[in-house]
Amino acid sequence: MARSAPHDRYILGVDLGGTNIVVGAMSVDGTREFGMHEIPTRAAMGADAVVERIVQLIERVAAETMAATGASRDALLGVGIGSPGPLDRERGLVIFTPNLGWRDFPLRDRVSEAVGLPATLDNDANCATLGEWWRGAAQGGRNVVGLTIGTGIGGGLILDGRLYHGASDVAGELGHATIDSTGRRCGCGNYGCLEAYASGPAIAERAREALAGGEPSSMPALVGGDLSRLTAALVYQAAREGDRLALEVVRETARLLGAGVANLLNIFNPDTVVLAGGVTQAGDALFEPMRAEVRRRAFKPAVDACRIVPGSLQGKAGVVGAIATFAQQQGLM
Ligand SMILES: [Zn+2]
Repeated sequence: MARSAPHDRYILGVDLGGTNIVVGAMSVDGTREFGMHEIPTRAAMGADAVVERIVQLIERVAAETMAATGASRDALLGVGIGSPGPLDRERGLVIFTPNLGWRDFPLRDRVSEAVGLPATLDNDANCATLGEWWRGAAQGGRNVVGLTIGTGIGGGLILDGRLYHGASDVAGELGHATIDSTGRRCGCGNYGCLEAYASGPAIAERAREALAGGEPSSMPALVGGDLSRLTAALVYQAAREGDRLALEVVRETARLLGAGVANLLNIFNPDTVVLAGGVTQAGDALFEPMRAEVRRRAFKPAVDACRIVPGSLQGKAGVVGAIATFAQQQGLM
C-alpha cells in the first residue's frame, strides 16, 4: 500500500447506537479508511460511561490511523458524531433518545473536550444517508432520499447535494410519515406511521398476527414454537424457503414501503432512494414488488427519474456519513 503524503488529513467518525458504538477514520478525500471498530454501547451504565467508551475507541482509532499513515495528530481534523435524535446541532445536544435514556445531553462538547478535537453532531439516519451518498450505493446522486430500516425507520434527505435539516433539525423523520391515519400505534405516539408497519419488529408483529389465522406455516418451527422470538430476518428466511404466509407478509411489507416511497417521490422528486438496514436482506423478494407499488402510485416523471437501490455500506454507513457530515459542516466538502 502506498504511504500517504505527509499533507494528507483525516476525519474520525462515531456512529452511536442503542446497542453498539462504531468508530472509524477516513482521509478527507474519502479514499482510505481506518478502524471501523465496534463495541457494545452499554447504555445502562449511564451517559458518562458511554462517553468514556466512545472516547477510548476514538483514541484507539486515532492511534491506528497515525500508525498506518505516519501522520501526526495535527493531521486529525476532528470528529463527526452520529447519534439517535432528536438533536440540537447548533448546541450539540442530544435532546431525547429513548434507547439511551438521555435528555438534553451535551454529547458533542463532551467528546470534543475529551479528545481535544473539534466535533460535529448529526442524526444517525442523516449520517447513514450521507454515507451512502458519499461512498456507497447513492453515489452520483444529487437529490437523495435514504431510509434506514431496523428497530425503527430512520430517514435522511440530501437536496441539491447537501443534507437537509429543516427549521429545527427534525427533517427526514420519514419513518413517521402517516400511511394510515387510523392505523397502528407507533412508538412516537402517533397512529399509522410507516415505522409501525415496516420496521423489523413491526414486520415480526404482522407475521404473528397472520399466524393467528391458523394457516400452515414453517415460521413457528423456526422459533421452536415461541413466536415472541420471531424476527423480520426469520420472516425473510421463511419467505426465501417458499413459505406462503411469510411471502404474503413480505409482499405486504413491500406494498406498504412502496406507498411510503411513492409519497417521497412525489414530494421530493429524488434521483435516488437508498434503503439500508436489515431490510436489504430480503433482496429482490422485497425490492421488486416495492418498485412495482411505487410505479403504481407515484407520478411517472418522478418514477422515471429515480432509482431505488439497497445500501452497500452495511454496518459502516453511519460512520462514513458522520465523517462526511463533519466535512460538510466544516466546509471541507
Ligand atoms: Zn411514528
